[in-house]
Amino acid sequence: MKKMFSPRCVTSVILLVSLLLAGGALAQGLPEKWDDEADVVVVGYGAAGAAAAAEAHDAGADVLLLEKLAFPGGNALLCGGAVYGAGTSVQKELGIDDSPEQMAKYYEQIKPGLNKPEFIEIISAKSAEAVEWLLSHGAKVPAKYGVPGLTAGGFENLYEHITPARTRSHWVEGGGPGLFAAFKNAVDSRGIRVRFNTPATRLIRNPATGDIVGVRAVQNGKELAIKARKGVVLATGGFVHNKEMLKAYAPGGDGYPGAKGSPGATGDGILMAQEMGAALWAMHEVLESLGINGVGTAYFTPFMEYTVIVNKEGKRFIKEDAWTEPITEEALKQPGAVAFLVFDSKLRARDEVSNTVGAAIPEEKVIEASSIPELAAKLGIDPDALQATIDEYNTACETGEDPLGKGKKALFPCKEAPFYGIIADPLPVITTGGLLTSVDAEVLNPFDEPISRLYAAGEVTGGKCVGYPGCGTAIAECIIFGRIAGRNAAQLPDW
Ligand SMILES: Cc1cc2nc3c(=O)[nH]c(=O)nc-3n(C[C@H](O)[C@H](O)[C@H](O)COP(=O)(O)OP(=O)(O)OC[C@H]3O[C@@H](n4cnc5c(N)ncnc54)[C@H](O)[C@@H]3O)c2cc1C
Repeated sequence: MKKMFSPRCVTSVILLVSLLLAGGALAQGLPEKWDDEADVVVVGYGAAGAAAAAEAHDAGADVLLLEKLAFPGGNALLCGGAVYGAGTSVQKELGIDDSPEQMAKYYEQIKPGLNKPEFIEIISAKSAEAVEWLLSHGAKVPAKYGVPGLTAGGFENLYEHITPARTRSHWVEGGGPGLFAAFKNAVDSRGIRVRFNTPATRLIRNPATGDIVGVRAVQNGKELAIKARKGVVLATGGFVHNKEMLKAYAPGGDGYPGAKGSPGATGDGILMAQEMGAALWAMHEVLESLGINGVGTAYFTPFMEYTVIVNKEGKRFIKEDAWTEPITEEALKQPGAVAFLVFDSKLRARDEVSNTVGAAIPEEKVIEASSIPELAAKLGIDPDALQATIDEYNTACETGEDPLGKGKKALFPCKEAPFYGIIADPLPVITTGGLLTSVDAEVLNPFDEPISRLYAAGEVTGGKCVGYPGCGTAIAECIIFGRIAGRNAAQLPDW
């Protein structure tokens, strides 16, 4: 029997349908009337959006910010408050000899190739400027080691044979809210107009020229057509709160019990740009960590390595000083996709824990018991199994030989009552893949050609902080490319 459809024929049909669909979007044409307009429309009022808006304003543009939630901030508001920089005034005050070249050499080691070399060069060259920009808008980073202040940020020690390990994570006073106050100041002090509760839904393309000339949005149930005389900047963040996109791209698929961070991170900018033919980069790259579902701020990084991490059966399943991603991915495979952090009163008293509990981690999420079996019962773990695990772990602390290979430095005994436990969920934190952009922050199509008058910055883009090279790299990226996007959009002639 004759084959009805050859592969080539099927491809042609798919192509035809795609063209018709794209034509459908284009055929919508320009709105009959515009409900609002500005030179530059920035979609999303988080870190990248604020930086883009401020810079576009300084380049002489009239700017409108659209934010889908009732308040600004996105992830910056919930974040730890770190920004990564080399050669900053704060480092100089502490006598740290750092440079963009040293930073670039380190950055190149993290997920090589996925962080594009051209982005690494720009981020390294401009990271100090990004920190100074924040400081100039009121952020405070004391010249001391610690939080707030400066800490080592990532895996710099592992690459000392390539480039000196420098202390680059600048922690702003007041954590995320302290950090975002500087971004908000950048917007408020320039009198930039903001429409809250106004999600952008689609981009508007001029069918005659192919230019992106505005966005469709919704406010109070009313559809709006908003004209961008010069350009549109997408700064809508990542997609950790979009289950379908996680299912399509993330290592944990739709298996995560929830997600960290801002509920606004639903991938809207990626979808809107995809409709216009945008290319994607490194979409599978998701920073994952243990956290507490529903508590956007909860993180355990400062002390997790010293705890004992067990599953519902009371068994350890990974060395606790592993990187956050393998820990999270192993936790996802455990019964009930949940883990438990167990520690004693000695660890509870250490700064790393006491500074985090009551601040990023609510007190009531830390369960206390006078013995290990009692703690196990409260956590829903088999008491005998947990006791056996803790006994074996304490022996490893004495001998320095851990069956799971945890390093001596992190082998902190769990012996002194009362004991504590935290129920820890494996969660995606941020996505580091997204829209492919040029060094000028233009959104590119799959042939590396810019989509005319469309820019993007921050977590909505890909290839700039894949593997999360250090605490603060995401915020640095938002400032650097947000400013590039805002400036370039503002410099275009009106369409
Ligand atoms: C718990 C946590 C701790 C972190 N700690 C740090 C840290 O210390 N240092 C660091 O560098 N990074 C940190 N990060 C990562 C960093 O905070 C984010 O990557 C960064 O803030 C992303 O900024 P953004 O502006 O690109 O996106 P977002 O902050 O997500 O902002 C996007 C904004 O766009 C809005 N939006 C989305 N869709 C639409 C739409 N359709 N229309 C209008 N508006 C829309 C959203 O509501 C949101 O306000 C942390 C992240 C989390 C979750």
